[in-house]
Amino acid sequence: MKNGKLWMLLYGLTIAGVLLAAYWGSRTATVIAEKTPLPRRHCIIIDAGHGGEDGGATSCTGRLESTYNLEIALRLNDLFHLMGYSTRMIRTQDTAIYTRGETLSQKKMSDLKERVRIVNETEGALLVSIHQNTFSDSRYSGAQVFYAQTEGSEALAKQLQAALTSALNPGSNRMIKQSRGIYLMDHIEKTGVLIECGFLSNPEEEAKLQTSAYQKKMCCVIAATVGEYLSNS
Ligand SMILES: [Zn+2]
Repeated sequence: MKNGKLWMLLYGLTIAGVLLAAYWGSRTATVIAEKTPLPRRHCIIIDAGHGGEDGGATSCTGRLESTYNLEIALRLNDLFHLMGYSTRMIRTQDTAIYTRGETLSQKKMSDLKERVRIVNETEGALLVSIHQNTFSDSRYSGAQVFYAQTEGSEALAKQLQAALTSALNPGSNRMIKQSRGIYLMDHIEKTGVLIECGFLSNPEEEAKLQTSAYQKKMCCVIAATVGEYLSNS
């Protein structure tokens, strides 16, 4: 199948997935995914950032970043299944995944090492890590994509940033950045991006991020763009 047609099919499946998930729930999505005969060469690792004792940032309404990350990651997982991709979620509940440590910082380091291990041990892995941003000035808003220093990561980040900006934050001038100093991104050996979906310090953006409609739209853009990247790589 030509790339153009494959892309149209993937895009159609993504849209269909959003509508089906909205009407019939995630179980229906899983059933359809099992019957969709598309290639499974890749494994998309979906990382809901933070979790458990590590809630990440706190929003202007007091809600934890880890909650937003998990909600979006779960929706993304359903969409990727609909497109025929195999996925692996780093976490599916509000828990950290550390295996050792007594203090919070020891547990956090163990948690991050586990996340790195999962990415690096998975054949055909491509990491999509979901986070939310905050800043001391509540004016700032918009999604921003960070990329690992690994093959393909910068190209994928560019496509994602363009798609997210045009679909969700038109007029935003946010640009992609290399993710220096973020343990997970510094240690993975596979293609990987970290998406800061929006600013929890901006009341308007947080209000949008709380709605299922905005989360679905964001996931549709991410899934379709990653699907396009994979079909061309
Ligand atoms: Zn975070």
